Amino acid sequence: MITIALSKGRIFDEAVPLLESAGIVARDDPETSRKLILRTSRRDVRLIIVRATDVPIYVRYGAADLGVAGKDVLDEHGGAGLYQPLDLKIARCRMVVAAPDGFDYRHAVKQGGRLRVATKYVHTAREHFAAKGVHADVIRLHGSMELAPLTGLADAIVDLVSTGRTLRANRLKAVEEIAPLSARLIVNQAALKLKRPAIQPLLDAFARAAS
Ligand code: ATP
Ligand code: MG
Repeated sequence: MITIALSKGRIFDEAVPLLESAGIVARDDPETSRKLILRTSRRDVRLIIVRATDVPIYVRYGAADLGVAGKDVLDEHGGAGLYQPLDLKIARCRMVVAAPDGFDYRHAVKQGGRLRVATKYVHTAREHFAAKGVHADVIRLHGSMELAPLTGLADAIVDLVSTGRTLRANRLKAVEEIAPLSARLIVNQAALKLKRPAIQPLLDAFARAAS
């Protein structure tokens, strides 16, 4: 049995065509089913539905053989010990610094003063500002980062954007790009050795479909 870990929502939706290219069609829709283990059209493949940040954990410990995880998650929570053979080119977005429309970010970071930054990507944010030589006090949030600058919790946020609609709706704008992102296939290293005959054709099919 091959177990593939995915998060529902964007990643699952955009992974559907890639899975199909390997002959894998889920028997249930994770948006409407409460099942966390989904059987598929292939008797030897099942999908498990976990939080986006939990995907690398399941794969690292071998509870899943493969997983689909955003590069944001791998960068923030560590891709160590995971084989990352493929950029699936889905769930594309950008990690950015965003601030209120009226905030003079260039001036703020030039001054040598301190910047208060709210984010759930604390590691990514600290690394970014340290590399720029900017003193940043990073406050960890768990969601709705856009609210932080609007309430005085922070000057700026570090978050993902794709269309920018959420930022605009909250009168924020991207003031700096940190990195372009997309979802990656991750593979448990022991599983790759032990189940190579079953896993390699999946990697090949995903690689063809993602290119
Ligand atoms: P939740 O929203 O339930 O708190 P989450 O934010 O971890 O959980 P998603 O919003 O589904 O889950 O994001 C999952 C992954 O999809 C992210 O880790 C990122 O790689 C990608 N992603 C997030 N936001 C966007 C976006 N706006 N455009 C494209 N991809 C995105
Ligand atoms: Mg989200």
